[in-house]
Amino acid sequence: MNEIITIDGPAGSGKSTISRALAKKINFLYLDTGAMYRAVGLAAKRMGIRPDHGKRLGELVKSMDLYFKTDEDPPKLFLAKEDISLTIRSPEMDMLASKVSAVREVREGMSHLQRKMARGLKVVAEGRDMGTVVFPDAEHKFFLTALPEVRVERRYRERLRRGESVHKEIVESELKKRDRNDQTRSLAPLKPAEDAKLIDSTQLTPEQVIEEIMGHLK
Ligand code: C5P
Repeated sequence: MNEIITIDGPAGSGKSTISRALAKKINFLYLDTGAMYRAVGLAAKRMGIRPDHGKRLGELVKSMDLYFKTDEDPPKLFLAKEDISLTIRSPEMDMLASKVSAVREVREGMSHLQRKMARGLKVVAEGRDMGTVVFPDAEHKFFLTALPEVRVERRYRERLRRGESVHKEIVESELKKRDRNDQTRSLAPLKPAEDAKLIDSTQLTPEQVIEEIMGHLK
């Protein structure tokens, strides 16, 4: 039987850490839909397609052989034979993903693929529109938030860990821009589903957030 838990929220809210750990704990598939939009950004860049060219992006999305290898932890994302899991984690891909994800043809293609990937499975689906658009009938919906300064700090540390030398002010302005893009776009804007439980992770450890979620699942 299909069973879906959706976890949406802005960048730096802790979604990925929580979703991945939760999926592992309860033995559900982890579906990282942000990675999929990043893959579209990467493929568009390689093909020289402008991030707002709906028709060409629509064709591109239809032709992409995109899949997760879930026997690894964390799951790896492949584009045809190439493991793109690390390539899509650059600041450039942050912004490109945000741009292409506002395009109707891209959202339609990706939403379709996401539902197909989840069909018949038990899934923790993470993203921006999981509870509102892609899986509106999901059994359990959560929306993670955290104060902006905490989200900036998390992203900043993550980028330092990755070996980048970056100023916190840059991280802050990029994160704000991405939040604004994601919240104000006309299609599937970032917002909690009406029936989502809001969790503010500002003062919580990932373990505490997972505990709170598990409490709701029972
Ligand atoms: O979650 P992540 O930061 O990897 O997502 C990258 C971008 O992909 C987001 O900023 C957002 O623009 C887009 N996205 C989306 N819908 C989703 C997941 C991600 O529009 N379900």
